[in-house]
Amino acid sequence: MDKIITTINGIDYTIGDSILELSYLIAAVLFVFGLKLLSHPETARKGNLWAGVGMFLAMITTMIFHKNDAGNGIHNLIYILGGIAVGSISGWLIAKKIKMTAMPQLVSFYNATGGAASALVAIMEFQNIDLNNTGIFLVTLLGIFIGSVAFSGSMIAYGKLDGKVGDIRASYMKYVNMFLLVVVLAIMGYMMFGGIHSNESLMMYAYVLLGISLIYGVLFVMPIGGADMPVVISLLNSFTGIAAAMGGFLYHNQAMLLGGILVGSAGIILTILMCNAMNRSLLNVIIGAFGGGKSADKEKGTVKEITVNDAAVLLYYSKSVVIVPGYGLAVAQAQHACHELDTLLEENGVNVRYAIHPVAGRMPGHMNVLLAEADVPYTKLVEMDDINPDMPNTDVVIVIGANDVVNPAANDDPGSPIYGMPIIEAEKAKNIIVMKRGMGKGYAGIENYLFFNEKTRMLFGNAKDSLQALVSEVKNL
Ligand code: NDP
Repeated sequence: MDKIITTINGIDYTIGDSILELSYLIAAVLFVFGLKLLSHPETARKGNLWAGVGMFLAMITTMIFHKNDAGNGIHNLIYILGGIAVGSISGWLIAKKIKMTAMPQLVSFYNATGGAASALVAIMEFQNIDLNNTGIFLVTLLGIFIGSVAFSGSMIAYGKLDGKVGDIRASYMKYVNMFLLVVVLAIMGYMMFGGIHSNESLMMYAYVLLGISLIYGVLFVMPIGGADMPVVISLLNSFTGIAAAMGGFLYHNQAMLLGGILVGSAGIILTILMCNAMNRSLLNVIIGAFGGGKSADKEKGTVKEITVNDAAVLLYYSKSVVIVPGYGLAVAQAQHACHELDTLLEENGVNVRYAIHPVAGRMPGHMNVLLAEADVPYTKLVEMDDINPDMPNTDVVIVIGANDVVNPAANDDPGSPIYGMPIIEAEKAKNIIVMKRGMGKGYAGIENYLFFNEKTRMLFGNAKDSLQALVSEVKNL
């Protein structure tokens, strides 16, 4: 494998080098292919597997054939394999045990570990890099900064999704964050151009940079809440990818570089899509310059309930029904019962469609994945912008475990933290049935006046129980 087969620009290439390059190329193709398959729920599993095979191939060939600039292969193989074994086994066990509803938190946690790994790589390699190479110097510092922010920010996002961490919405937070950002840039600038010659001093500044970046990550995510969490989650995702790409630069490792760039760019595209869907600018989300004012106090009116029997009759004799699924549907694991109801109604000539809000649930595409699991045909899922014009002609809209995504405050209360976010306009339908356990609030923690609307009837109870009861009532009609 060490036999030199060619020399290009004075660099010798062995058979091992060629195998390594070829394996990176194959891994790159598998990543891209996997990413493409991940864009649809039906092919997503396969996409995950293909990308995983690409990563596995890149790891194995790197361990066997990689050589550093001095021509030495990888040592410490025992530690590396030990780390891989511990990570893989614990990752596998956690993923097996985790409830579907806790998946968003888990994804944030794993994203945090990716950021931490990249920051650790950068800080460890800081001692070995050529400080006269400005490009590598900058890449290493950025790796420390972005990796740390991705780590601590994702840990806070994990806490928020898990309901363990609340929001701090003080207006001074944005000034604190801007100040910290300036400090980070100043430290980086001083390290690179401040004429520090001692390696010990540089290392000390690297640790200070690490510490401030970790604090910045916490304070950056702390004020972001409610409807803006999806944007920050996809942004943190892209940070982890970018930090990994910095590691790829450091090690001249194309597989790591490409994998990082793919995650980083996919995360940025998702962030932009989420911002568009939420009618927010990225800058607004980051500096927290919206919402959070005082909500208008309105007359609530009364809440009217509906019996399962009345709801079944109303649905059975409708022409057009729109189901709005939300986070509560996932909590109740009621997707199968929901599909059973929609099939029964369709058999009776009712046109049933699902209105999908881009941030319903707790992760991007949550409702699509949930409904795909119950084999709801993809053609029945209609995006928010396409379903809204049809709402006035809809006989019944059934809101199942959704709250914020149908909250009219987004349209008519400038003080609301969700003001400006486009919603599914359930209030425009002729009849509204809301299925939830009680008067609990949604993720944004605000009142929903839809529940007090004249046309609204509440069907209280766990969504799965209510849907199963509805199914048996409809069967008896
Ligand atoms: P919400 O979180 O607004 O509301 C969910 C509702 O479901 C609650 O009001 C709750 O009311 C009800 N519920 C909970 N469990 C059950 C159950 N077992 N049976 C019946 N109902 C139940 O959900 P939405 O989907 O409307 O909105 C998503 C929110 O999450 C948005 O604010 C979004 O910004 C945010 N978010 C989204 C992310 C994403 O990527 N999609 C990521 C992070 C946050 P009750 O307790 O009375 O039953």
